[in-house]
Amino acid sequence: MLITEPARQVPLYGEYEVVVLGGGPAGLLAAASAARNGASVLLVERYGFLGGMGTAAGVSNFCGLHANIRGDIRQVVHGMTDDLLDRMRAMDGLNDPHLILGKIHAQAYDISAFKCAADGLVQASGAQVLFHALATGLARGADGNVDALFLETKSGRCAVRAKVYIDCSGDADIAQWGGLPFEKGDEHGGMLYPTLMFKVGNVDGARAQEAWKTIPQLMDQAAASGEFTFPRRGAIVRPQKHDYEWRVNVTQLANADGSAADGTDADSLSAGELEGRRQIVQYLAFLRAKVPGFENAYVLDIAPQLGIRETRRIVGEAVLSKEDVLGCADFPDSIGVNGWPLEMHTAGDVQWLWPPIPESRGYNQLPFRMMVPKRAPGVAGNVLVAGRCASMTHEGQSAARVSGSCFVMGEAAGTAAAMALRAGIAPGDVPISALQAQLVKQGVFLGGQD
Ligand SMILES: Cc1cc2nc3c(=O)[nH]c(=O)nc-3n(C[C@H](O)[C@H](O)[C@H](O)COP(=O)(O)OP(=O)(O)OC[C@H]3O[C@@H](n4cnc5c(N)ncnc54)[C@H](O)[C@@H]3O)c2cc1C
Repeated sequence: MLITEPARQVPLYGEYEVVVLGGGPAGLLAAASAARNGASVLLVERYGFLGGMGTAAGVSNFCGLHANIRGDIRQVVHGMTDDLLDRMRAMDGLNDPHLILGKIHAQAYDISAFKCAADGLVQASGAQVLFHALATGLARGADGNVDALFLETKSGRCAVRAKVYIDCSGDADIAQWGGLPFEKGDEHGGMLYPTLMFKVGNVDGARAQEAWKTIPQLMDQAAASGEFTFPRRGAIVRPQKHDYEWRVNVTQLANADGSAADGTDADSLSAGELEGRRQIVQYLAFLRAKVPGFENAYVLDIAPQLGIRETRRIVGEAVLSKEDVLGCADFPDSIGVNGWPLEMHTAGDVQWLWPPIPESRGYNQLPFRMMVPKRAPGVAGNVLVAGRCASMTHEGQSAARVSGSCFVMGEAAGTAAAMALRAGIAPGDVPISALQAQLVKQGVFLGGQD
């Protein structure tokens, strides 16, 4: 049954050159880089803090900042990301890199430090932030371009207007409302499975030692004896900055039919939150009973929301694929690089696929065109899309969805938007060599010269 909502006029909150939707890793970099490059910017975020899945979903670990370049693991994401990392280090909120599966580095962080550093980066850039504002739809002009974005806030419903919109919602919300082409999941609609992240405290670090190496085996034993059941293999249980606090990435949320819980479906999200907390209670019991050092552990924190890895992805002028990641692809319009492998959260498991290591250079370039929605008559030409909802295949997204690549895309999208505005052209038409020169000036590593 449908109910007609009465038409109404809403106040215009403000007009900007650039509106960025979503303050996750992609959005906060997009807003900061557009503002640093001279644009007036509004960053719209539904929560009261930045960081996206990195904070709201409790991720607390940066992947994709590094690549394994012929056996030498190096940081390959720089530019304005370095500013963010420095701000986190200054709060003692960033761990040194740790080795993952013997092949690559990741860097654990303190979620509060990420929130504060992201505030600092965005505020210093001059971008304005509107928190507690949920975008709910948009209006398009006669030319097909997005004209205004509608927001629900505690002050009421309002609209914001911009010349360029950057969709960093993770779910391609602007793309969906604006009629831009998008896909969801694999060819059958199957998406990467979500996880509700949590942390345990009061771990005896001296006894736990390198428990992340033994926990998978202990889980297998506990499952074989029938004492415990687990929603997935491939547990990631690692210490944070202090070894009494560990992050736990083990839950897996499915719908009743076994398909991945859907981050764009309110019922699926609701059921996922409840089931996620049920799994957490079970897993705590396993840790306390079976893992040395965890006998007195307790649930220190459960992430505010279910961690969503994949929903909609736009179909862009270029599509980053599994072959691009595994083959360390080059693109003439490179805006930076991804060194993270395919990390497929499939039913009951996590599967990894790597480029040849150490034989290859271990990273692929990211093309600017993966942020440009596929052009067609009547399709909005004033939107860029950055982050986990940029144009990738289902498999390609399992790699380039991680924070490092989202930072890269965000910085490039914001820079391109500001440059396009100065030149009076559509953001997708920005001259690539000029964009690349500006990104290099900002410290970005474009790859291809190892
Ligand atoms: C469980 C889990 C574990 C992960 N582990 C790692 C890891 O160890 N390392 C790593 O690097 N990456 C990890 N990732 C991946 C990574 O965190 C995300 O892919 C990344 O955060 C995506 O960044 P993004 O900016 O594209 O989108 P998101 O982080 O999803 O940010 C989107 C932002 O937009 C806001 N938003 C969305 N819609 C609206 C709207 N309509 N109105 C207003 N605001 C809106 C959201 O609140 C959010 O802040 C993990 C992801 C999950 C789910």
